[in-house]
Amino acid sequence: MSIVSPAAAARRIMIVGAGQAGLQLALGLQQQGLQVTLVSNRSAEDIRTGKVMSSQCMFDASLQIERDLGIDFWERECPPVEGIGLSIPHPERPGEKMLAWAHRLDRVARSVDQRVKIPGWMKVFAERGGEILFKEATVEDLEQWTQAHELVIVAAGKGEIAQLFERDADKSPFDKPQRALALTYVHDMRPRPAYSAVDFNLIPGVGEYFVFPALTITGPCDIMVFEGVPGGPMDCWAGIGTPAEHLARSLKILETFAPWEAERCRDVRLTDDNGILAGRFAPTVRRPVGRLPSGRIVLGMGDVVCLNDPITGQGSNNAAKCAHAYQRAILAQGTRAFDAAFMQAAFDGYWEYAQHVVNWTNAMLQPPPPHVLELLGAASAMPAVARRIVNGFDDPRDYANFFMAPDKASAYLRAETQPEAA
Ligand SMILES: Cc1cc2nc3c(=O)[nH]c(=O)nc-3n(C[C@H](O)[C@H](O)[C@H](O)COP(=O)(O)OP(=O)(O)OC[C@H]3O[C@@H](n4cnc5c(N)ncnc54)[C@H](O)[C@@H]3O)c2cc1C
Repeated sequence: MSIVSPAAAARRIMIVGAGQAGLQLALGLQQQGLQVTLVSNRSAEDIRTGKVMSSQCMFDASLQIERDLGIDFWERECPPVEGIGLSIPHPERPGEKMLAWAHRLDRVARSVDQRVKIPGWMKVFAERGGEILFKEATVEDLEQWTQAHELVIVAAGKGEIAQLFERDADKSPFDKPQRALALTYVHDMRPRPAYSAVDFNLIPGVGEYFVFPALTITGPCDIMVFEGVPGGPMDCWAGIGTPAEHLARSLKILETFAPWEAERCRDVRLTDDNGILAGRFAPTVRRPVGRLPSGRIVLGMGDVVCLNDPITGQGSNNAAKCAHAYQRAILAQGTRAFDAAFMQAAFDGYWEYAQHVVNWTNAMLQPPPPHVLELLGAASAMPAVARRIVNGFDDPRDYANFFMAPDKASAYLRAETQPEAA
């Protein structure tokens, strides 16, 4: 049933890229009665049988967007992530922790392997009458599609076509990758005590390791994520030839830097030979209006315009929120033109939120400043502080209020320790 007016529903929209952003928006607009064509350079089968792409942990506000759209098909099967924990190894006593705490999230997070989710969503989109064109979109294609469609959106993630959008140097402090990334999907990891969580290990000078439960093509699993400082000992994935070697390297890192995590991994095995990934990229914000050689314009979405390092696990969350913001902007536009002003305003609406995620994520790539160390230390003794830090992953805007600046951090800690003086 068409929810928008017949004139608005008759407008043709094309979305290039069937990831969290593109496919979620396609499904959402389709539900509202709009005609959407999706372009994907990979078939559902290619994606399902291909390599893992992400650890895609999504927090409640993002999951709620999917629930509201009725596309949360895996909530029952997917193990919940109930909390977040932090460990920092002791600098002088090998094998011991200097800091360790954990807190429950107010509402659970979940990670559904994109190899499960994307083919599932593609099937539903097609069953509901959506058209999917399977091809690698080129600039020439965009030229053609912009003539036949009122709006062309590029949600191609890290695909080469994203280069069409100008890098926004003011919003992109890094021009090089800040971490060497790796993923290892495993079965038979020992659960952590009490409740499931993202176990986040911050290893100064080396990088970060985090791990949490998820749902993959072979059922429930755990995803190991490695974030190695470039050139450091966790930047060690070059020359690895086989999945078995990748797993062995993953375990070696844990034995060396986080033996308590290695303990949980005594019996692990890879979920499948494609449950591994290694790579790196520079976090980059791009301008949302892409100009084609003819002067016609396309709108960037998701990772195309806001590519973050995965250290804070926000990219899929951002993609969901970007798609949600764009959906509202498109519907609110009615029959008015999808011109450059519309595109810029749609992005600006999303950026109101996303700027906080980018600032926090980029800050986490730097050695923690004293006020952050103080907050992280306070969290081990003060559950209220731990709770606030943990729940910020669901809404990172809150970090601006207490985490991002020394004066706000000390005011917050003062208020927590001396509530009567606040
Ligand atoms: C190691 C790692 C761990 C991560 N962990 C998390 C996490 O825990 N939580 C979280 O929220 N985020 C995480 N992310 C980030 C998250 O996966 C991405 O931010 C998210 O998938 C972006 O969604 P998207 O739809 O914008 O792009 P994508 O998911 O990349 O989708 C883009 C799609 O477009 C297709 N495409 C590309 N070029 C073309 C073309 N020319 N024509 C047609 N199709 C094309 C691609 O094949 C792809 O299917 C992680 C990322 C990495 C690398």
